[in-house]
Amino acid sequence: MTQATYVVIGNPIAHSKSPQIHAAFAAQFAGHPVVEGFSYERLLAPLDGFAVSVNDFAAAGGRGANVTVPFKEEAFRLASTLSERAQAAGAVNTLQLQSDGSWLGDNTDGAGLVADVLRHTDIRGRRILLLGAGGAARGVILPLLAQPPASLTLANRTLSKAQNLIEHFQRNTPIPLQACEYTAISGQFDLIINATSASLGGERLPIADSVFAPGALAYDMMYGKDETPFLAQVREAGVTQRVDGLGMLVGQAAEAFHVWTGLRPDVAPVLDWMRTQL
Ligand code: NDP
Repeated sequence: MTQATYVVIGNPIAHSKSPQIHAAFAAQFAGHPVVEGFSYERLLAPLDGFAVSVNDFAAAGGRGANVTVPFKEEAFRLASTLSERAQAAGAVNTLQLQSDGSWLGDNTDGAGLVADVLRHTDIRGRRILLLGAGGAARGVILPLLAQPPASLTLANRTLSKAQNLIEHFQRNTPIPLQACEYTAISGQFDLIINATSASLGGERLPIADSVFAPGALAYDMMYGKDETPFLAQVREAGVTQRVDGLGMLVGQAAEAFHVWTGLRPDVAPVLDWMRTQL
């Protein structure tokens, strides 16, 4: 069992870049009493042993955890209290130990995405096209709507998943929301966000080049050393503003660091450094 005060829990976990990111954040506040004793490590939990791992970690002095694949929904069920954004996401990526020994569950993925997009363009008043209706898409809808955009269209291969999400979120917002399949997308959009895992298999999404408004920004939650398949697709469609998801990764970590410490790290230098580590 780890002696760290903070961990990222997943299975597998060896690939996670979170320890480097959080070490860099903590170094920005060296000497600050809040980060005294701050340490952050990877924790591999057995696929059938997430809750036991989390509770053993707390018993050994753990104070907070990031949660990654495949445990985000289990963390949602484990948490005694949930933030509004965790409830909206239906998943927890950040756990914070409370004074009574229970866990507060939060979700910082959406805040990380929004913060990164805002480094490149406004969201307020823009027409958003969100591609994909899985866990990542669900987690970013509420923080995107809070900006607020002019509209949000959710397109997905499996239409019913997009329709269910839109029905859920439309209950609480006057912002026009729409669900459709990729080939049925109509109109033009200023901000196009890829939250599908299609790129993992190198597949292109069947969306028309006409959906990109002049000056549109395309954002791919996926990232890597090379240009992602989605960003290559939109480049060929003439989109000049293209951003990958490394900033979202660093941004969600910064938000988690803030949840735990109350401190807001400077994301930009950590993002620049992480780019050299890909
Ligand atoms: P899920 O498995 O929950 O959802 C996958 C989504 O991709 C679904 O909408 C699915 O459509 C769609 N999809 C999968 N394959 C294809 C395909 N061949 N063609 C069209 N659509 C496809 O995954 P997540 O939501 O958790 O993650 C989505 C992506 O976001 C991943 O690439 C992940 O790495 C990335 N991500 C990045 C983060 C960051 O910090 N940068 C944070 C979180 C996620 P359908 O419903 O029809 O199956």
